[in-house]
Amino acid sequence: QNLIKPPHVAIVPTPGIGHLTPLVELAKLLLVHHNFTITFIIPNDGLHLAPQKKLLQALDPQAISYIFLPPVSFDDLPNDVMVEIKMVLTLTRSLSALRDELIVLIQSTRLVALVVDLFGTDAFDVANELHVSPYIFFTTAALSLSLIFHFPHLHETTTCEYRDLPEPIQLPGCVPLHGRDLTDPVQDRSNEAYKVMVRMCKKHRSAAGIMVNSFVDLEPGAFKAFKEQGQGLPPVYPVGPVIKMGSVDGFEGNECMKWLDKQPNESVLFVSFGSGGTFSQEQMTELALGLELSGQRFIWVVKSPNETAKNANYFSVQGSEDPLGFLPNGFLDRTKEVGLVVPSWAPQVQVLSHRATGGFLTHCGWNSTLESIVHGVPLIAWPLYAEQRTNRALLVDGLKVAVVVKCNDKGIVESQDIAKYVRGLIEGDEGKLLRNNMKGYKEAAKLALSQEGSSTKSLAEVAQVWKSLNT
Ligand code: UDP
Repeated sequence: QNLIKPPHVAIVPTPGIGHLTPLVELAKLLLVHHNFTITFIIPNDGLHLAPQKKLLQALDPQAISYIFLPPVSFDDLPNDVMVEIKMVLTLTRSLSALRDELIVLIQSTRLVALVVDLFGTDAFDVANELHVSPYIFFTTAALSLSLIFHFPHLHETTTCEYRDLPEPIQLPGCVPLHGRDLTDPVQDRSNEAYKVMVRMCKKHRSAAGIMVNSFVDLEPGAFKAFKEQGQGLPPVYPVGPVIKMGSVDGFEGNECMKWLDKQPNESVLFVSFGSGGTFSQEQMTELALGLELSGQRFIWVVKSPNETAKNANYFSVQGSEDPLGFLPNGFLDRTKEVGLVVPSWAPQVQVLSHRATGGFLTHCGWNSTLESIVHGVPLIAWPLYAEQRTNRALLVDGLKVAVVVKCNDKGIVESQDIAKYVRGLIEGDEGKLLRNNMKGYKEAAKLALSQEGSSTKSLAEVAQVWKSLNT
């Protein structure tokens, strides 16, 4: 009797709009192209859930429903605990509630798979216990997946901190990676986060399959190497770019679009550092002065500064204070002819898709990266946290679609340099080269997602495997 029901998938995102957004898009693809129904089961800490709820409420509840699990508490954790630890713990502290919800789904639907993101692998034990196939939707580059596969070996064969490794790490089919470019939680071997990462990396190998939000023509070497390594690795499916198309809403969103409509083609730099990126006051001031000095047009999504963390808003998206109050005196007035400053949040995908947008100063978050690729917008890479330095290596050294910012001895990117990067990207020869390269990947992305494209076929393969599971 179960077989006549549509196959059902449970998706469990760890915190962060950068995880939920592509997972929601994946759910839509599974529904529209493969007739799956989906339940999102969402572990959380009870705070700042409005953006998540907004995203989920827009879906058809008959086909894609959602459940927020009882919030977990972090009261016992030290204040400086790494964001990545909190992401993993949000899930591990919810496992018993997750198990209960999965049992309900097994009883009421034809549940064929559990999909988690890269921080959700601790849910595999529950999935295996309940005989539900555990899958990962890997929300960043294949380069990082290659690193994850390789990491347990690296852990066993090296003793120094990775930033002190004398030689770059050469992963099969990938650009060389310096140890300093590895993700933050592995940069201190004595930190609890390091142990968590080692465990997480090992668990990736026990997935029934891994869908990657990238595409073959973007990272051909890495995907080829996964195939060749074969045994011991789960099947890897390049299914991307899976990005939101989104809609413009709210006053600020509409303001951005109206403002862009008045600007010349490819003349505007979009400046935004993801959902959580923050700067110190000193760095924020340098950035403001650099934009002003460049004389170029810009839209800047400004967040309140934070002196200690670069990802201060990761869990909350918006800071509590008015960010415009932290800009240099007179800045808004002096730049009003060429710049638009938007507090906290802009309709990024729409901005990137607008004909007037000619460049993106970005923290290299993977969703932001894919969104720029799909819209052919070249980048200035300013990685801040998580795996963004790894993405930088791919974008700058591998794909040649970005220039990278350089810090001074105090770790600050100075205003004169910022002005130089911005001018170079919007009107310089290097900008032209990067834009051309980006447009090549834009076409390749379009092809990958076409009816007969590589990513479309890959997702169909996953769907076929799931449909054939006899539950
Ligand atoms: N985003 C947006 N407006 C903003 C900032 C971010 O719409 O002002 C969206 C952006 O389009 C992307 C996501 O938030 O889809 C950020 O994801 P990314 O992986 O780039 O960075 P993260 O926030 O995970 O660091």
